[in-house]
Amino acid sequence: MVLKIVQAGEPVLRRHARDLTPEEIVSPSVRQLIVLMCDTMRDAPGVGLAAPQVGVDVRLAVIEDRAEYQAGLAPEELAARERKPVDFHVIINPRLVVEDPTPVEFYEGCLSVSGFSALVRRARGVRVEALDEKGQPVSISARGWYARILQHEIDHLDGTLYVDRMETRSFSTAENHRRHWASRQVAEVRQALGLPERQG
Ligand code: ZN
Repeated sequence: MVLKIVQAGEPVLRRHARDLTPEEIVSPSVRQLIVLMCDTMRDAPGVGLAAPQVGVDVRLAVIEDRAEYQAGLAPEELAARERKPVDFHVIINPRLVVEDPTPVEFYEGCLSVSGFSALVRRARGVRVEALDEKGQPVSISARGWYARILQHEIDHLDGTLYVDRMETRSFSTAENHRRHWASRQVAEVRQALGLPERQG
């Protein structure tokens, strides 16, 4: 079964989600939510899904970046994004610390802003302290695309969407992104859009 993914404008996407209690984490309803969110993320498909995106304002997100999603991308693209497969996992009540603040800019999309993408700057490396689905503490150190996914999903738990962080002039439909921008280097895109050069 697949849940409905709510779209921008839905109030739940702008709320600060609440922590789950240890009892709630292991409850049947949260276990079921995790299973349904996993199915919903894979069906979309997407590499992450936060509970507010299915209308539940609690601090829980699922993440998975499968090798098959990366099959259509050139090795240079994967290398530039530092993108590698990430196994399915759950983060609950996460705390994020930036470990490598080097800004990295790429096009990013969101299942709740369906059909669009834009350039978004993210920190290159982060550490996330969270609980897993059993309520056990986990510490995740991530770099590159995985670090981007974590920042994007944890933003959702704080009521933030990528459109709050995007380079507004780069905002594009997914189709136009494929047609005009996807194959170009970010520096080239910035120039074509009349944006100032970025260093680093
Ligand atoms: Zn999103």
